[in-house]
Amino acid sequence: METKILSGKPVAKRIKALTKEMINQNDLKPVLVVMIVGHDSASEYYIDSIIKQGAKQGVDVQIRKSDSVSSDDLAEFIHNFNSDSNVSGIIVQKPLPKSVDEHFIGKLISPEKDVDGVNPITVGHLYLGLDCFIPCTAEAILEIIKFYDIKTEGKHIVVVGRSNVIGKPVYNLLLHKTSTGNATVTVCHSKTKELEKYTKQADVLITAVGSAKLIKKEMIKENCIIIDAGINKIGDIDGKSVFVGDVDYDDCFEKCQAITPVPGGVGSVTTSVLLNHVVRSKKKMQKIK
Ligand code: NAP
Repeated sequence: METKILSGKPVAKRIKALTKEMINQNDLKPVLVVMIVGHDSASEYYIDSIIKQGAKQGVDVQIRKSDSVSSDDLAEFIHNFNSDSNVSGIIVQKPLPKSVDEHFIGKLISPEKDVDGVNPITVGHLYLGLDCFIPCTAEAILEIIKFYDIKTEGKHIVVVGRSNVIGKPVYNLLLHKTSTGNATVTVCHSKTKELEKYTKQADVLITAVGSAKLIKKEMIKENCIIIDAGINKIGDIDGKSVFVGDVDYDDCFEKCQAITPVPGGVGSVTTSVLLNHVVRSKKKMQKIK
């Protein structure tokens, strides 16, 4: 059987269409504030794509750069955005400098505007399966599962990576009693011994590691489905950055049943999910059903 490529593009296209429809039907003027502390070239690339997509879709993306690495200064900024009725989404771009406590900052973002699901209240809602903004990359993975009708019920799904933004929320979502849940989930991380012992058992393998081509064909089960959230820069060709996933795509391609490409897979869905959250938040703020 030919391997199916699970492109993120049609998934993103559908989400963008829904977002545009919400904006047009309700004449919304949503604003997303992206706070950047310090400098990081990898996140600048992501932010550029948020600005470009925001402009196309009608979401005003406002960048607030701060060279201050004091948690108190950042707290004051966030309080102001929380109380600004024009702002419907706030994200603080990572990585943060060591002097800034990520959890302290997360707690300050009002749950109504917490469009990347970092406030512990949002995390609690997610854990319990209540309505909330799911961290965008985790939701992007779920959207791919939904779009391509990947069956999760009763399947053994192995998630490699346990970060608060991808691995843990994905693990939680797959456990819920929903059409994209009811899976038996194993989570692996850097301290897992004999990683391949687990990845080889996966009907669906989800990776969010940050290690280029970590997963080779000897480590996967015949006919498995692979969703690779990793984005790893391995160099430049003709002045353009070259990115690969956590899975060795060429090596695993023939052995699996379906696989997301990198780039063009999970990453291409994440920004559309974020902008969709900003618009949903705006609708709620205006009490539109
Ligand atoms: P992270 O916070 O650094 O977490 C990485 C996870 O991988 C950790 O749980 C770590 O284990 C685990 N890990 C590291 N080396 C491992 C190994 N050799 N074997 C097994 N597990 C290992 O990273 P993240 O923020 O979740 O991002 C993960 C990847 O996704 C990165 O490539 C990032 O660029 C990409 N990403 C993609 C999107 C998108 O839209 N597609 C968005 C955000 C990030 P420990 O917990 O033990 O350290």
